[in-house]
Formats: sequence, C-alpha cells, structure tokens
Amino acid sequence: MALARCKECGSPEGLKHKYPYLHSGMTNYRILCGAPTCIASASVWLTDEEEQQYSHGQRDFKISNHTKHVTVH
Ligand SMILES: [Zn+2]
Repeated sequence: MALARCKECGSPEGLKHKYPYLHSGMTNYRILCGAPTCIASASVWLTDEEEQQYSHGQRDFKISNHTKHVTVH
C-alpha cells in the first residue's frame, strides 16, 4: 500500500515497509501529507513491490489512511 508524504517530510523511516520511490504526479485529486502535524500537499511513495507494478503499467494505487485510489504518472 502506497503512502502519502510531502517532499519535506520525505520517505518515512522505521516503518515495517520501505517506500523508496517518490511519485509526485497525481491527477484525480489532491492528497495531504500523512505526517501527524503536517498539512502540506503530499506526494505518493511506493514500495519495491508497487514500483514493480508501476513499471508494468499499473498507475492506480491505494494510499494508506485514504479511502480513494490515486493515479500516479
Ligand atoms: Zn509533510
């Protein structure tokens, strides 16, 4: 499951999953950073597995703590 964080907060460290892949292009709507005290517009970070799906043409990902999917480019 992808994660929403702004570029300032960056890829979250110390979680079970690593999110090394930043995707900043989103079309369908704006999402906000998932960091507790941050209300900046977020980018989408993908796991290794999701990045592989992305490289195979997958563009819709579910975001942790959000009910909708986002489209990345
Ligand atoms: Zn943030």
